[in-house]
Parts: sequence; C-alpha cells; structure tokens
Amino acid sequence: MRGIKNILVVEDNIANLELFLCLLESQGYKPEVAMDGERALELVSNSCFDLIILDIKLPKIDGFEVLKRLKKSPNLNTPVIVVTACATDENKRKILAQGCTIYLTKPFGMSTFYEAITVSLSNNNPVERCIQ
Ligand code: MN
Repeated sequence: MRGIKNILVVEDNIANLELFLCLLESQGYKPEVAMDGERALELVSNSCFDLIILDIKLPKIDGFEVLKRLKKSPNLNTPVIVVTACATDENKRKILAQGCTIYLTKPFGMSTFYEAITVSLSNNNPVERCIQ
C-alpha cells in the first residue's frame, strides 16, 4: 500500500482553493492543483491520482465535462469528490450519474470535508484503479 496519496484539487476560486490546500496540507497531503478544466484534463491524462476534488463551475471546460472525460482517462476509477455551490437536484443527479463518488455542497464544514476524504481514500486498490 502506498503511503503518500496523490490528490488533485480542481478549483478556480482562490479562497476555496487556499482553504482546501490548507486542510489537505495539515493532514500531510501535497495536492496538485488545476484552476481550470483544461489543465485538469491535461493532468488526469498524464498522471494517476488517488483522489480528485472537483469544482463544477470552472473556466474553459466545466466540471461536468471533466467528470465525463475522466472516465476515458487512466483515472476512470479514481474517487471524485465534487464540491459545488450549485446544489440543484438536477445538478446532483447529473453529477452522481457521471460517477462522482461524493457530492459536497458549499459551504461545508471541515469535518465533512475530512470525512469525505477519509471515506474516498479508505476503500481503494491502486493497482486496479489506475489503468495506464
Ligand atoms: Mn468555480
């Protein structure tokens, strides 16, 4: 089992991004960052992540499209935590249908965030998950 988890944070809002990074770094993670969907897709086509934290409203390519294309990348089985302020039922349904693992509506508490990360990382099998 790998000790260090490879996490990707996709978020264009600086305040949210800094908060996520701060929370993750306080747990010893050193996440990679993408601030738009295009960069996120570049990263997921070249690396295998243990977890992806994904905003939906993003510049260039939105989170729905990123989620869809993830399934055709080496990260097709990587757990995805979608973090979004657009909490309509329709959005939620659409996101979950595209294989998001956990859906968090902003704003959410620190403990909710940590729990989502622990759950996402706990039942994983890196060998089976990363198809390269
Ligand atoms: Mn956004």
